[in-house]
Amino acid sequence: MVSCLDDLPITELKGVGEKVAEKLKRLNIVSVADMLFHLPFRHEDRSTLLPIGALQPGQASLFEGRIELAEVVFRGRRSMLLRLSDDTGFINIRFFHFSNSQKQMFKRGQWLRCYGDVRSAGNGAGLGVVHPEYQLITLAQRGQFEKGLLAVYPVTEGVNQTTIRKLLAQAFHLLQQGARVRELLPEALSIDKGFPSLIDSLQQLHYPETMPSEDVSETPAFKRLITEELLAHHLSLSRLKAGLQTYPAPCFKSKELLPQRFLQQLGFSLTAAQQRVVAEISGDLALNQPMQRLLQGDVGSGKTVVAALAALSAIEAGYQVALMAPTELLAEQHLANFKTWLEPLGIKVACLLGRYKGKENQLTLDDIRLGGSDIVIGTQALFQQKVEFCKLALVIIDEQHRFGVQQRLALRDKGVLDGMQPHQLVMTATPIPRTLAMLGYADLDLSIIDELPPGRTAVTTSVLSVAKRQLIIERIKQGVADGRQVYWVCTLVEESEVLQCQAAEVAAELLRSCLPELNIGLVHGRMKAEEKQAMMTSFKAHAMHILVATTVIEVGVDVPNASLMIIENAERLGLAQLHQLRGRVGRGQRASHCVLMYKGPLSENANERLSIMRETTDGFKIAQKDMQLRGPGELLGKRQAGFMRFKVADVERDAAVLESLAEMADETLQHQPQLVEPLIHRWLGNSVEYAQV
Ligand code: ADP
Ligand code: MG
Repeated sequence: MVSCLDDLPITELKGVGEKVAEKLKRLNIVSVADMLFHLPFRHEDRSTLLPIGALQPGQASLFEGRIELAEVVFRGRRSMLLRLSDDTGFINIRFFHFSNSQKQMFKRGQWLRCYGDVRSAGNGAGLGVVHPEYQLITLAQRGQFEKGLLAVYPVTEGVNQTTIRKLLAQAFHLLQQGARVRELLPEALSIDKGFPSLIDSLQQLHYPETMPSEDVSETPAFKRLITEELLAHHLSLSRLKAGLQTYPAPCFKSKELLPQRFLQQLGFSLTAAQQRVVAEISGDLALNQPMQRLLQGDVGSGKTVVAALAALSAIEAGYQVALMAPTELLAEQHLANFKTWLEPLGIKVACLLGRYKGKENQLTLDDIRLGGSDIVIGTQALFQQKVEFCKLALVIIDEQHRFGVQQRLALRDKGVLDGMQPHQLVMTATPIPRTLAMLGYADLDLSIIDELPPGRTAVTTSVLSVAKRQLIIERIKQGVADGRQVYWVCTLVEESEVLQCQAAEVAAELLRSCLPELNIGLVHGRMKAEEKQAMMTSFKAHAMHILVATTVIEVGVDVPNASLMIIENAERLGLAQLHQLRGRVGRGQRASHCVLMYKGPLSENANERLSIMRETTDGFKIAQKDMQLRGPGELLGKRQAGFMRFKVADVERDAAVLESLAEMADETLQHQPQLVEPLIHRWLGNSVEYAQV
């Protein structure tokens, strides 16, 4: 009977009962096909058998010898010591873990075939191997072994190399007997790229005929699997988009009156980049399909104005808008901006925060439900159950990387009206390398603001040891004398907010004692929201010289006159966070400066992070480095639980494949939609439950 190994449970193989199946599941192996996709991470050359006399230290080698001596010794640690010899020499074998039955087997005169790393035992004691792989052989079996390359696999507790090799042998045997694995790459694509068939690819990867070169990723067999896996990831998100686009959305055929009046009163004109993305967004909003757009722009590039313009088109067409920010501080800042900008145009701005309770909040909720409020700004509080909109048609989410996909979908669900879906605009300052964004945000169209408003001055950065604190204090004095305002940022010392806030309090005290003539404020996460807001307002009004802050100022805070920033414990922060923090300065006319203070010794990684911060302020360069140092999964953050953990692909190495991915995904969705489910299932398994519309 011809069976499909994708559907054959692994328990159908000999030697796999409930228990082993449970363990294999830890390696994501559930079907026999999964077993085939469990690729070796290297191969060992087992084709040459060396005489013991020819063994060299530092090389993994295959050799055979007769046990001359077997004893349990207690030098330091209990261990089993064997001495093997052939006609050419002898070698010591040591086992630190051994069973009684092994003790029984290792008898004088017994022949063994071993494979392991040969080391020099030192002090002229000859060569030795610790824990080799071994096989008992008879004299007659000497030199009789299957020559060739041996694959080495990722294993888990209770499933060793031998088990995996045996299971794979069974799986390949089934293939020889005519079983299939599903070909899930569209055939045209496979031919176009010159890929071998799936079975041939697997054969070549598990049982190559010659030792694979270092760069196995360049072989067509491996490229085939890389392509398949990346395509599966892309499809899981683009399916989400395609699903949404089958719904209608309200279409804003704006008369453009409100946006025009807004721009006239704004006091500055949009940059070319802002104009371009505004046009992209208006284009989307004029279609009766839900917009799903990611607006990416470096810190300070002016995303808020763009969001306001989008909001105005919706409001002008008679709909409501929701704007969600990740922190109360940021929500309140948006609130202040939008009130100043929009209220003069007769637009009603409401605000929902977690701490708002009672009668007043109830009035806000009623007003939102009845359609009295045009735009509602808030935090996660926006998607509480009790929040109902009258006609929500545009959802704007700021600083996307802090929200997961699920949260985004939850807010969108509040906007469903008469079978229509709301438009979505997601804004992020986390620059993500383009190729990665194409994969990680495949459910969103991308707009990029790649230009800062004019008049910004570059921020210079220096890296100083805490030992130079006095120097820094001097610099602050000078700066303040020049009319500058200063941020002093205390970062996470421990994974505890309490300790972080204490550290900020201590830092503020210390600064007050060094600089008694200056006005020093403090803002941290444990203060009441009103206190925080009051502190920020008074700093913005130049009522104080220095603001000591925890990382609460990371996002959104905008005080153009602040042009000096000191970051404590900078070596502990990731690049994205450092970049965000530093973006708080350099917003005014003045040349700004950022001091990254660290406590040595620096790890190599920390050193690289601080160096790149000193070298560049280009968010995209920083993101590229960040991806190298941290890996792509980390970079996309919470967005992807289960995403971006690849079996064979590596987004950096395989960037070239990413380039053509969107096209491949479109092709597949349009012409071979039946492949989509099985592809996603094969490569992402159960990690994408949420990715349903
Ligand atoms: P971000 O993209 O980081 O959210 P903001 O929208 O907060 O940036 O903008 C940062 C500052 O730049 C704000 O004070 C904003 O008013 C100002 N700004 C935005 N666009 C322009 C522009 N085209 N010209 C001058 N200033 C601008
Ligand atoms: Mg912003």
